[in-house]
Amino acid sequence: MSLLIRFSLATLCLCAAMQTSAREIALTFDDAPLGDSALMTGAERTNKLIKFLQDAKVPDALFFVTTNNITEQNKNRLHQYTQAGFHLANHSHSHSSAAKLGVNDYLSDAYKAHLILKDFDNRLPFHRFPYLNYGADASAVEKLQAGLGELGYKDGYVTVDNFDWAISGILAKAAEEKKTIDYKKASALYVDTLEQSIEFYDAIAQKTLKRSPRHVLLLHENDAATLFLPDLIARLRSKGWKIISPQDAYKDPIAKQKVFHKQGRVAGIAANKGVPETDLRHESENMEYLEALFKARKVFE
Ligand SMILES: [Zn+2]
Repeated sequence: MSLLIRFSLATLCLCAAMQTSAREIALTFDDAPLGDSALMTGAERTNKLIKFLQDAKVPDALFFVTTNNITEQNKNRLHQYTQAGFHLANHSHSHSSAAKLGVNDYLSDAYKAHLILKDFDNRLPFHRFPYLNYGADASAVEKLQAGLGELGYKDGYVTVDNFDWAISGILAKAAEEKKTIDYKKASALYVDTLEQSIEFYDAIAQKTLKRSPRHVLLLHENDAATLFLPDLIARLRSKGWKIISPQDAYKDPIAKQKVFHKQGRVAGIAANKGVPETDLRHESENMEYLEALFKARKVFE
């Protein structure tokens, strides 16, 4: 084999490897601004979250705001995020399921959020449906997409679904009940579970897209996401993941594929290719599984 051919083949292999193993992921936090919990106040949570994102040199993070959560007391927390350079997007006003509200009421609700968000800087034109519920049926999904498109919104899809909210809820409840929390074990449980979810949806992408897309991780502006963010970022980076900005993630070609699924866009693309629904949900997306995991790992002993 000539040197030139060998070089070209090597370049080809390298490019192919690079393309299938990009391992890039953006962080998004839903339901901001969430209230106080037994673990910390909302104000403490925002301060910590900003500090951890900055300490880890995360290029940007997107906060999907539920505008009904905004009060006179907490609205400054959203300004703190934008002043720190992070961005806000629309997660509806009342956090209702689009399937339950119906097309017109849902669009009014999203519009209400749109008007409230105008008072804030650093907005990005993305909208994310609560519960990733895109509408009751195909016709509703289409009408909702059209209505949100008229307001200038693109789909703030996720590629990695998970139950971070459930983990955070179990922890906050334990704090309310004055249980002793082993934070090291709690962090390991959280990071392991999130990492598994990310690898799970990336494996589905590798199979169906034949490449690793720029991922969008669903998190919530909650206690667990805050407390364990440094550990999560460190783990991901140690496994070759690069944290990118949500703007960059939404430039991936899958952003153009209009596929709507309650487990995210990668799951939606796989479902369209005939992958059964039961294969599109990681086992940790289940309350009983997580409660058993907390017990098995003795987080509260
Ligand atoms: Zn939400």
